[in-house]
Amino acid sequence: TRKMSVREIRQDFPALRQQVYGKNLIYFDNGATSQKPQMVLDAINQYYSMDNANIHRGVHHLSQKATSEYEEARETIRRFINAEKKDEIIFTKGTTDGINLVASSFGELLSAGDEIIISAMEHHSNIVPWQMLAERKKLVLKVIPINKRGELLLEDYQNMLSSKTKLVAITHISNSLGTINPVEQIIESAHAVGAKVLIDGAQSVQHTKVDVQAMNCDFFVFSGHKVFGPTGIGVLYGKEALLDEMPPYQGGGDMISKVTFERTTYNELPFKFEAGTPHIAGGICLGTALNYLNQFDSKELEEYERDLTEYAQEMLETFENITLIGTAKNKTSVVSFHIPGIHPFDIGTLLDKQGIAVRTGHHCTQPLMDFYQIPGTIRASFAFYNTREEIDAFIAAVEKSISMLG
Ligand code: PMP
Repeated sequence: TRKMSVREIRQDFPALRQQVYGKNLIYFDNGATSQKPQMVLDAINQYYSMDNANIHRGVHHLSQKATSEYEEARETIRRFINAEKKDEIIFTKGTTDGINLVASSFGELLSAGDEIIISAMEHHSNIVPWQMLAERKKLVLKVIPINKRGELLLEDYQNMLSSKTKLVAITHISNSLGTINPVEQIIESAHAVGAKVLIDGAQSVQHTKVDVQAMNCDFFVFSGHKVFGPTGIGVLYGKEALLDEMPPYQGGGDMISKVTFERTTYNELPFKFEAGTPHIAGGICLGTALNYLNQFDSKELEEYERDLTEYAQEMLETFENITLIGTAKNKTSVVSFHIPGIHPFDIGTLLDKQGIAVRTGHHCTQPLMDFYQIPGTIRASFAFYNTREEIDAFIAAVEKSISMLG
């Protein structure tokens, strides 16, 4: 294992070495997407320069090479989240695509009156597909409420569960609040009534060790671009028996076993859910991104990020006019706040002029913003390449921006 040294890690990320408006870039928008290490950039270049070929069907050397690299990446992903089998790893376009796949395919197994439970802190991508499915199949959608700190009310959740509950779809870590949800407990309770559980891992694989078998989730989804890999690639993990039961999502090449005009039979897992030419470079280079992370002790990265988060939160608490949004006891990598009387966008614009990239707005969690009765927040989200010095500069810039707008 490679010792965690933030100075050395920063050398691996060329994007961090640039200036914006003549200021050193401070990149605090990792919740939206992460920067890419040189290893991943080199792998993208290598693939398109030398290895480019379509996979799974070619007799020629390059096709076989691309196929084996793509399938090796699937194995790297399996190991990274500790899935039992390689065919439980389905390549998708990202978290949103994975959730839509499950809503569409697992959704076919549901019938009128069945219930799906989500939570008040979900990203739109873990709300809207279920609303669409509920409308199509006449299902009931229930929402676990939260407290002001941004923690799920688990007693209310317990009371929602019944034999009618078929699926619980919940985020592991909130992108707007940083709250880490007690997913093991949520999953155990759901299983006790026979419901399946989908975990939205878009904000978790890059911040904490994920073990899908220990967690015992039925589905787990995440995006490559938030774990230092390319955009347009993501992963759906599903338990094999469940995926076997589910009908295909899209029809086309690669997902079939035999096609005639009378009848088509489907390919085995994971190909049953992978119609068409996939994002081959994306899959291979997501594997590279995970190999980059595999150099480190995940616990060490996790503790470092928690320390950064606590530090930023403590500094923000010293401002009288700032309202912190998301003060859960168990949280990481996100500080979100609101300043009464000042629109988040105005602060974001002033921070940008000082070279600081943050996200402002509702972060695709409008119902959550409604709960707090605010238009949006200013969100700084961290990765292991960020530093305390950057937070100091950020805090000074926030102070300056407030006084300019005040
Ligand atoms: N869920 C959560 C918690 C997220 O943070 C995001 C990305 N902001 C998504 C889902 C959607 O991910 P993607 O846009 O990569 O599909």
